[in-house]
Amino acid sequence: MDLLLNPEINFCSCGCETRIIKHGLNSQKSGKKRYQYWIECLDDSCGNKGGTEAQSWKAILNWNSSEHSDFPDYVEIPFLSFIGLSKEEIATKISALESELQTKANKSYKSGRPLPQKAYIELKAQLAWIDYAKIWFGNHFNCTESFANKKPNKPQKNSGDKSTPQTN
Ligand SMILES: [Zn+2]
Repeated sequence: MDLLLNPEINFCSCGCETRIIKHGLNSQKSGKKRYQYWIECLDDSCGNKGGTEAQSWKAILNWNSSEHSDFPDYVEIPFLSFIGLSKEEIATKISALESELQTKANKSYKSGRPLPQKAYIELKAQLAWIDYAKIWFGNHFNCTESFANKKPNKPQKNSGDKSTPQTN
């Protein structure tokens, strides 16, 4: 399986496993079956649910980037390795690759010569992975400022409880 279009689904922030839902939509006009995908927590009492997308990989990356996601200690990006890199090096690497991909997308758009469908989907997926990488980075290093345009979906609330070790 190609990780790019088959990302692993993160656990729910409640600690439970998650599943992907595929929901069929009948389009009466074209007669072509279309689907919606989203991720939801397996624990019914939790009820966490990700955004609805037309592609499974989008739904997974949407969930993984959301406030419901239980971010892993290490994120495996299919086209990017952070192994052995410092925080600053990771940030630089993400930014550099993002601008490279955006340049590629803009070039194709402006030239009026669209990319072949497979390359287009891959580019879209890579950009979605970059978004996830940025949100993972902010969560992992507890700094949302590094990528000014990418903050976790939820405003930081109740961050005032500074837990200091209790001495009994
Ligand atoms: Zn949950």
